[in-house]
Amino acid sequence: MRLNVAIDGPVGAGKSTVADAVAKRLGILHLDTGAMYRALGLAALRAGIDTGDEEKIVGLCRGLKIAVSYEADGQHTFIENEDVTGLIRTPEVSMAASTVSRYAEVRKEMVRIQQRLAAETDMLVDGRDICTTVLPYAAAKIFLTADQEERARRRYLEMREKGMNDSFENVLAELKKRDEQDMNRPVEPLRRAPDAELVDSTSLTFDETVDAILRIVEAKRNG
Ligand code: C5P
Repeated sequence: MRLNVAIDGPVGAGKSTVADAVAKRLGILHLDTGAMYRALGLAALRAGIDTGDEEKIVGLCRGLKIAVSYEADGQHTFIENEDVTGLIRTPEVSMAASTVSRYAEVRKEMVRIQQRLAAETDMLVDGRDICTTVLPYAAAKIFLTADQEERARRRYLEMREKGMNDSFENVLAELKKRDEQDMNRPVEPLRRAPDAELVDSTSLTFDETVDAILRIVEAKRNG
């Protein structure tokens, strides 16, 4: 039977890195769905389209081929045939992604691609609406979160490692703004699915978080 694992959670809960490690341990692929919204955000910024203009963004989304592929170092994300993996992690693209992801037609398009990918192969999928909308029948469903300050601290350290020298205050402010936008949008707001297991990583190490999720997956598979 197809193994699908769904992980949702807010910005900076460590989803991407934790999900990567869990998928490796399970020997399955990891789809980072945020990267797809980021690719659309980047395309909008490049085209000079106001991300607040729903009609134009939906038009852009429909005319654009957003795809992913898997290489030795993990997921690569493409706009048409251009690999944009290294260009979609800036704060500017983060905000643009959060704004374009509010639109129902954009979400429909992205969900369709994600469901197709997950139907083709065993896969762990992470995002905001995976347990609720993309894979409601996933074998294991997890909501991964942590305190807001702790998430900001992790994000700040991660950005410093990548050479982006934003202040902690700015990182916290951006995170609060994205939380607010992701949790309060009218279409598919970020929320914990009633049947998703809660993993709060505030006081867990990276390895402990990975182990906690693996235990949930194993319990679901065996139960
Ligand atoms: O996970 P990541 O921070 O890369 O996602 C970027 C943005 O894309 C999020 O702030 C969120 O607004 C949006 N997103 C979404 N649904 C998903 C994944 C990401 O709305 N499944």
